[in-house]
Amino acid sequence: PFDVLVIGGGPAGASSAIYAARKGIRTGIVAERFGGQVMDTVGIENFISVKYTEGAKLAASLEEHVKEYNVDVMKLQRAKRLEKKELIEVELENGAVLKSKTVILSTGARWRNVGVPGEAEFKNKGVAYCPHCDGPLFAGKHVAVIGGGNSGIEAAIDLAGIVSHVTVLEYMPELKADLVLQKRLFSLPNVTVLTNVQTKEITGTDKVNGISYTERDSGEVKHVELQGVFVQIGLVPNTEWLGDAVERTRMGEIVVDQRGATSLPGVYAAGDCTNSPFKQIIISMGSGATAALGAFDYLIRN
Ligand code: FAD
Repeated sequence: PFDVLVIGGGPAGASSAIYAARKGIRTGIVAERFGGQVMDTVGIENFISVKYTEGAKLAASLEEHVKEYNVDVMKLQRAKRLEKKELIEVELENGAVLKSKTVILSTGARWRNVGVPGEAEFKNKGVAYCPHCDGPLFAGKHVAVIGGGNSGIEAAIDLAGIVSHVTVLEYMPELKADLVLQKRLFSLPNVTVLTNVQTKEITGTDKVNGISYTERDSGEVKHVELQGVFVQIGLVPNTEWLGDAVERTRMGEIVVDQRGATSLPGVYAAGDCTNSPFKQIIISMGSGATAALGAFDYLIRN
């Protein structure tokens, strides 16, 4: 059996695997797609000490760094069940059952899509999901934020300091964000809030040039010319497969303590699949290191 089995090969999983392997213990990593969300990213400018890199390049270096160590890398494999017996068992979709003394869950998350025409077509060509990452690319331009919950309104406030104008589109008649955020938003001069509207299409040629929406009470379709669209309707953790094996929040995020431990002894978690409040590459890597050290500590005590 493994001492540490990591599920997920994004920044959190790669970091966990390296930290575990450096302890000289038997380490394995299962990843459906090595690199994770980093593979969907073009420019990365906030990975500290690296001024600029690109997703595919960073994903390749993650894999290369993991392979420097004696880690059993199982790519293109998806975990579908976790159960604690004498050891912790993880069943893969191909039917194989892996056994380990400890497991680190780092299956990440995915952005919820609005699913309108233009969204997929213009991804990274004006359609963005991460204001911390891509906000500066739209300096001085007009952008839309789809979603009036906390993440949407935080994004709108953040972007308003960088771009020329922000138009917020919310499907419901009222914004759902906390009142303090709404107050801050409405105090800003360069923000327009549209409520009770349904996004119909993100328009463009080679890149985004506007957004069309329906006013839900009148049924009227309108179009705004702009250069960027931030979709902020939620981040969904890839944790459905865990069921009740570990405690998860209402949003499906795995609950971890300061050492990365979950509610199930021997099972740790790191990165975007957890209830960590901020989701970034550098944060995922840090929490991956924490979870591996937590798991190692557990191993020497049990
Ligand atoms: P992920 O990167 O999501 O990796 C999850 C891993 O788990 C993948 O290998 C996946 O295949 C695997 N997996 C999932 N389910 C299973 C399963 N059941 N079985 C086996 N494997 C599974 N952050 C920044 O800091 N800077 C940026 O500039 C930046 N730009 C971004 C741009 C975009 C378009 C996106 C989508 C995100 C961006 N982020 C950025 C956020 C950053 O990518 C994430 O915070 C980070 O990748 C999270 O790492 P993670 O390892 O927790 O999860």
